[in-house]
Amino acid sequence: MVPRFWWLVSIGPMKTASERRELLKAVYQEGRVCVECPLHETRTNVVFGSGNADAELMFIGEAPGANEDLQGLPFVGQAGKLLEKLLGEIGLERGDVFIANTLMCRPPGNRDPYPHELEACQHYLFAKLELIQPTMICTLGNFATKLLRGEPTGISRIHGQAEVRTIGPRAVRLYPLYHPAAALYTPSTLEMLQADFLRIPEILRMGPPDQPEPSLEAPPPEDSWLEGPPPEDAPPAAPQEPPPAVRDPPPADSEQLGLF
Ligand code: SF4
Repeated sequence: MVPRFWWLVSIGPMKTASERRELLKAVYQEGRVCVECPLHETRTNVVFGSGNADAELMFIGEAPGANEDLQGLPFVGQAGKLLEKLLGEIGLERGDVFIANTLMCRPPGNRDPYPHELEACQHYLFAKLELIQPTMICTLGNFATKLLRGEPTGISRIHGQAEVRTIGPRAVRLYPLYHPAAALYTPSTLEMLQADFLRIPEILRMGPPDQPEPSLEAPPPEDSWLEGPPPEDAPPAAPQEPPPAVRDPPPADSEQLGLF
């Protein structure tokens, strides 16, 4: 399957920040009524992500939780407050960075996302990467780290170790961190998270890594993070062509929602 937003690959330096922001808003408007996987049936809101549309630093967590699903924004609640506090300790605010998840709709009961759900949603994340053009991505927690690195190494072994990785269309400085929720009630995890956070400015100062050569000839090859069939208890995948009727409210301007 060709990624949906393959046409965004290669836009790179040709687009201004303002043009990329407008394109990001267009992807947002499409994403907020998405019905491409079964999670659209149980979500309250699509959690597209929020923050600076031209951010150097991006955070990627696993999937929306109950509060995020209700508010349509990522990392609200206690984990979000801790993330904001940690950002403040390195001189940044939430509006300086962009925060998103690997999946934009909440899995029922906060279960782990299924592979076919992640695969259906990955083109939105790739589009965000291509349009925001971050230098650095901090994965938050085990799930996002394993998924974006494409390897099973757990967060306890890999946290705080920056490396250059190509995620979809873009090479970034990938920096795995413990999930703020895991640090809320475990002082030793909080200490490690704080220490890792303090290294973020130094990694940002290294600047963006070299980017892969874009191809204008054809869409990029299928590039899935995922391998293997869905688990046996997974519900069937959504049809390729979504039905026209959706139950979301009509699109609103993203400014009103405090996005970007
Ligand atoms: S999780 Fe992603 S692919 Fe699935 S319905 Fe939500 S936005 Fe669409």
